[in-house]
Amino acid sequence: MTARRTILIELPKDKCDVDYIRRLMSLTNLAYREYETWIPDLPKTIQHQLYSSFKNFLESLVFGSAPKRWFAEAWVPLKVLRIYANGSMKGDKSAPVVLDFRSNANFKSNVIRLRQVCRSEPGYSIELTMPKWVIERIKEGGDIKYAMIGLKNDKPYLALIAERVVKPYVPSGYRLVVDVNAWSNGVAYGIINPNNRIAEYSPLRPNLRLIDTWYHRAEDLHKRLGKLRRLGFGSTLEAEKMRMRINTLRRKIYAYLRDFVQKKSHELVMKAIRLRAEVLIDDMIEESRRELLEEKIPSGLRKLYLMYTRRFVKLLTTQLQWYGVPYRFERLPSTICPICRHELTQLPDRTMVCTNCGFKAPRDLVPMYWVGSHELDN
Ligand SMILES: [Zn+2]
Repeated sequence: MTARRTILIELPKDKCDVDYIRRLMSLTNLAYREYETWIPDLPKTIQHQLYSSFKNFLESLVFGSAPKRWFAEAWVPLKVLRIYANGSMKGDKSAPVVLDFRSNANFKSNVIRLRQVCRSEPGYSIELTMPKWVIERIKEGGDIKYAMIGLKNDKPYLALIAERVVKPYVPSGYRLVVDVNAWSNGVAYGIINPNNRIAEYSPLRPNLRLIDTWYHRAEDLHKRLGKLRRLGFGSTLEAEKMRMRINTLRRKIYAYLRDFVQKKSHELVMKAIRLRAEVLIDDMIEESRRELLEEKIPSGLRKLYLMYTRRFVKLLTTQLQWYGVPYRFERLPSTICPICRHELTQLPDRTMVCTNCGFKAPRDLVPMYWVGSHELDN
């Protein structure tokens, strides 16, 4: 199985011609539709590279689907030349992206060179510092054959795609259960040992109160800003200050949640590897969406939670694939009895009881019992 991981690197705006990148993206869109268009005022080398890497790119299906509309923004696939520390090379020598891992007196060590993709000038090239991410993926046996360049919110980015062939390990009998269902209670995980006992259980909760505070502060400011604007003071210094504070608060929320999902997904993957566990994921479902609605969370915040829940699952599965951890998705309902499948009754303290067989457990732990009992069924 080929596993892939991607990193986005923001490119220095002053060294990149955004319009040039946009033109390359339009050419890419056309290439998806099998049009080879040779534009006289663009460097021949880059156009040649575009079409030659495009053919390889389609076979490797790195990013999957073709753009649906004509002229929709499509990222430009690029070949990558790898020059390793010992001087050996892999890939096309004239590739527009060069990953240079050499480190000696003659070269700056560990750099990425982009040739001809940032500006329409013959021989134009820029250098970037190699992110640690790249060095780690290479150490783990990965290879970076492809890169993409494109715009996101009008900012230029480079995407590097690491590939690695992995064979999932044979699980030891331990299972790591990840319950992604209720953000208000955090993501929860449990470890079920080979004897079907719950060996560990813990919620991974972001600091929701902190997020809530930032969110409402931003909303308040936003309302006050609206008022100022209606009164004709929308371009005053005070309004400008408010706008800056709103943006700062919003950026703080995004950064906090991004960091949280990144750290937690990585921790779980490492836990699974240590135990050689099989991972079972109970993904967010309609039931929990309704739960979020009932909790009267403002819709903006709810959207954010849903977005980061999806991001968490995506990050988790990408890393599980990368490290060869066997995993599957499974519904582990917290309202149905894991022993007799009878509907459970919820007590005021969130304990769930089965009136049919007497099963009793805290609501958040019910999914973990499902995993144990499945084994008994077989
Ligand atoms: Zn029961």
